[in-house]
Amino acid sequence: PAQNMEELVSLCKRRGFIFQGSEIYGGLQGFWDYGPLGVELKNNIKAAWWRANIYERDDMEGLDASIIMHRLVLRHSGHEATFSDPMVDNRKNNKRYRLDHLVKDQKDAVVQKIAEIMNVDAANFPALIAALNASPAQASEALKAAGVRDAFSGEVGDWTEPKPFNMMFKTTIGPVADDESYGYLRPETAQGIFTNFKNVVDSTSRRLPFGIAQIGKAFRNEITPRNFIFRVRELEQMEIEYFCVPGTDEEWHEHWLERRLSWWEAQGVPRSKIEILDVPKEDLAHYSKRTYDLMYDYPTLGHEEIEGIANRSDYDLGSHTKNQAELGLVAKVSENNDSVAKLTIPHPDTNKPVVPFVIEPSAGVDRAMLAVLSEAFTKEVLENGSERIVLKLRPHLAPIKVAVIPLARNREEITTVAKAVKAQLQALGLGRVLYEDSGNIGKAYRRHDEVGTPFCVTVDFDTVGKGEDASLVDTVTVRDRDTLAQERVKIADLSDWVRRGLA
Ligand code: ATP
Repeated sequence: PAQNMEELVSLCKRRGFIFQGSEIYGGLQGFWDYGPLGVELKNNIKAAWWRANIYERDDMEGLDASIIMHRLVLRHSGHEATFSDPMVDNRKNNKRYRLDHLVKDQKDAVVQKIAEIMNVDAANFPALIAALNASPAQASEALKAAGVRDAFSGEVGDWTEPKPFNMMFKTTIGPVADDESYGYLRPETAQGIFTNFKNVVDSTSRRLPFGIAQIGKAFRNEITPRNFIFRVRELEQMEIEYFCVPGTDEEWHEHWLERRLSWWEAQGVPRSKIEILDVPKEDLAHYSKRTYDLMYDYPTLGHEEIEGIANRSDYDLGSHTKNQAELGLVAKVSENNDSVAKLTIPHPDTNKPVVPFVIEPSAGVDRAMLAVLSEAFTKEVLENGSERIVLKLRPHLAPIKVAVIPLARNREEITTVAKAVKAQLQALGLGRVLYEDSGNIGKAYRRHDEVGTPFCVTVDFDTVGKGEDASLVDTVTVRDRDTLAQERVKIADLSDWVRRGLA
């Protein structure tokens, strides 16, 4: 695995996985562009998730809802009122910070001091943040008295009182900008699932329990985007809302925790690198009854959330439904006089309408990329003493499955065969096969090690009958990324060989 973030960032830029957004205009903080290899890896991760959660199960449907949503959706979901983080400004340099990040970044002694001033146990970080939040004026004094440093410049700050800051991006819809003509870019994909609950049930005749899955962009105006693609403002999520009979929710919660851990394992992110955090009550999101955060051990950052698996109870459907009063909701919801739909489904035993409970496994695609890349990143010293970087990606995630290399790029007899081999392998439908004639063979191998290509196939003079060994006609050399073994394979057998190798 990668030892630090820098070596990953550098590989990603050098080989075309990830670039800074709007880079030629100085860049835009919190926005990243996925390059030629990044888009392939990302698509492969999403495809693996979709396969495991929709195609390989019999209780799931897919969805692709719009990104911009009616303001009333985000009002009734609770996001208008509560999707905010307390922020503080440093008056000395006019920079803005998320209060919890700022405090977390301090040395232990400083955090201890703040905790003392606030009269809270420093080991209980959520309680400390809650206390700072609850009394903004005292919080500001505590930050100053403890000598809290600016996370970036290292200077001791002069702090304002913490103020809530809503992280949703708001945008104008239509030609007239008035008080009503705005909408939000969704801060999570989940709301599109809840608002389509009735549509999906009616069009598919699903009964409880079943789930709806969606992959898509979400937007959060993070106060301090940082740590490469770990915390970004435009992110992508892979979310499942699993609807079940109230009372069975805790069982399903455990089911999904297990399923998700084994999925991560299959992507090369082992359980031993993921801590399960049973989120303390005072730290739960506004909709949650209980949440497990999967905390992956990122290089440089340490354990940070890669996925949240929340029990959202009947909060969301309950918030978006009409006739709330007659539905016996368990969650505390605000009154809704806007919705025109009753979001119930027949109870499988009694056939009486019921608002289901929801289990939500929600994973970030960008954070998945970072974890997968980090686990695959390997530095090896070869027998001859030289060092190589190799991305040991699982074959189904590799951006390029096979590179086909003509040994001489100007010899038509060789390039014709190499192009035919490329087309033959591409037709297998296993993903991208690259015709690679950009440099000498040694360079090509190095490059494909670094981007995780499982196999390199070389067409040489022997292949086309211009070599010394006539028995090698119509064979190619296949080089294995991990073992470095080279094997001579008949072109006629190559498709089967590659199919087996990538399985
Ligand atoms: P954090 O505490 O790190 O801000 P969160 O608890 O707000 O995350 P959730 O609302 O649970 O995150 O979102 C579900 C998933 O979406 C997260 O596990 C993460 O993978 C991803 N995600 C959330 N915010 C971001 C972000 N700003 N950048 C990248 N991924 C994100």
